[in-house]
Amino acid sequence: MSTPLLLAGVVRESIVDGPGIRFVVFAQGCPHHCQDCQNAQTWPFEGGNEVSPQKVLDEMHENPLLAGLTLSGGEPFCQSEAMADLAEAAKAVGYSVWAYTGYLFEELRKMSAEESAVRRLLQAVDVLVDGRFEREKMSYDLLFRGSSNQRLLDVPASLQAKIPIEKQMG
Ligand code: SF4
Repeated sequence: MSTPLLLAGVVRESIVDGPGIRFVVFAQGCPHHCQDCQNAQTWPFEGGNEVSPQKVLDEMHENPLLAGLTLSGGEPFCQSEAMADLAEAAKAVGYSVWAYTGYLFEELRKMSAEESAVRRLLQAVDVLVDGRFEREKMSYDLLFRGSSNQRLLDVPASLQAKIPIEKQMG
């Protein structure tokens, strides 16, 4: 775990970024610039704080109530190497891993053919909430999503099938 994360911030206990109580890291830097993004302060690729993946894990271990880790942003897939290190380590000790991305699963699959870190990160994620935020499709009724174009995807099933497979939330 050598590359540091560049983070806009963390939320140590969230109940809105996936099931259960979750530790959320917000990546600094996002290329998507969705209209009415609620995290526009995360767009610049400068600024933020450098944090080692190990430090995040150590903080997570201090809270026995945590169900998992959520990678949000900003765009976590713009720092795939450090995010993959964190996600793999979190998964290895039993946390579920969710990731929010402005990319589509199909785009990430293409990127992963050329970028091994993107491939590693995808393989370490259980559920991907994909797609840009679209203001006109926004709804407060959507579970864990901001707009209805975004999908909750079962990543292991999607990677195996090579097509996006929706996560069944039960
Ligand atoms: S992908 Fe997310 S962080 Fe980036 S501009 Fe869109 S809503 Fe904002």
